[in-house]
Amino acid sequence: MRPDLLARLGERLAARAAEHGLRRLVAATRGNGTLVVDGRALVDFSGNDYLGLAGHAAVRDALVACAIRDGVGAGAAHLIGGHRPEHAALEAEAAAWLGCERALLFSTGYAANLGVFQTLLGPDDLVVQDKLDHASLIDAAKLAGCEAKRYVHGDVESARRQLRSRPDAAALVATDGVFSMDGDLAPLAALAALARDTGAALMVDDAHGAGVLGPEGRGSAAHAGLAPSDVDVHVVTLGKALGVAGALVAGSQALIEGLVQFARTWVYTTAMPPALAAATRAALAVARHEDWRRDRLARLVAHFRRGAAARGIALMPSTTPIQPLPAGSAERALAWSHALAAAGFHVPAIRPPTVADGAARLRITLSVRHDERTIDTLLDALAAATAAPAEPRTEPAARTRGRTGTRVRGGPASHRARS
Ligand SMILES: *Cc1c(COP(=O)(O)O)cnc(C)c1O
Repeated sequence: MRPDLLARLGERLAARAAEHGLRRLVAATRGNGTLVVDGRALVDFSGNDYLGLAGHAAVRDALVACAIRDGVGAGAAHLIGGHRPEHAALEAEAAAWLGCERALLFSTGYAANLGVFQTLLGPDDLVVQDKLDHASLIDAAKLAGCEAKRYVHGDVESARRQLRSRPDAAALVATDGVFSMDGDLAPLAALAALARDTGAALMVDDAHGAGVLGPEGRGSAAHAGLAPSDVDVHVVTLGKALGVAGALVAGSQALIEGLVQFARTWVYTTAMPPALAAATRAALAVARHEDWRRDRLARLVAHFRRGAAARGIALMPSTTPIQPLPAGSAERALAWSHALAAAGFHVPAIRPPTVADGAARLRITLSVRHDERTIDTLLDALAAATAAPAEPRTEPAARTRGRTGTRVRGGPASHRARS
């Protein structure tokens, strides 16, 4: 008998609920450094607005001015008349910022990663990726139809072995610059040397490094001392430190022209509203030139880590604004998150399949919008939450785990990809 697709989906939802993995979608109003969730104003320690640009007056004004001048929607794909002077100017300014020949604007980082892989890689080719690469890089390999191998997190020798297994295949080494759920840095200098030695190309998805690391916020590669040309494909997303939305791919003239011709996630989609490009230009100017934002962020990170150590809170090793606190079980991460909400802080639990089984955590992120005093209050709440004994809860749903849980774990790999 033919399986009922929606009934099967219902079973997967029940299984996820039994594993304390159900996500809850809430409409949260943002205002003045807080997030209003379920009617309560919580200090937000969860976002990626590291430099405080999402609410910056110059960024907002640039968006409004452009929308008043040009309207909102681009109305068409870039090649069909949707490409505006604001898009072109942002691409030129981003290329100059990163020291690359050319850059191309995508509507999201997800689409950019899919487009790059699908343009560069085919069924005979190999991508070698860090085990903790972002979900979009994992999905990109599926779209490209290439062989995908994943190396041990941060382990360059593991990557080398995988490249060696197919010495004649055209190959791309692809990594996050800053790992989104862990906050640590990829060993970019060693990976660049590996790529050079083995004839592979190197791609860095710098969603969490751009704006935050390196001179003028040029990102992880610059922070690692690499020249722009040491990285073949730079991906910068615009919705995190830059506070807007979208992504830029930067590299050689040949790379960008190839994307213009072949990247389906760029060719067959409506250009981002030009007002967003205008806002991003304003954000980029602030991010490049206001070093105090990066300096302040670094001071806040150091303050947070010192305070955690003093209170016996065992953070994961990270020097970036992403500061995870390992919880182990999803249930415990949720309990901590609820305790923090009760104390006035928004810090959601990150659970499988976003992270590995048993590696649930709180992902605490810092921003220049925070100050030392608020961070101290958060640390006190964290110390109290994590000191409380974990209460093993027995919910009726938990009993079904063995039965329905198997189906989830045996399901298509895409259901288990990091997200
Ligand atoms: C957020 C993120 C993306 C996706 O970017 P969007 O613009 O949000 O689609 C890609 N890669 C990494 C590492 C990310 O953290």
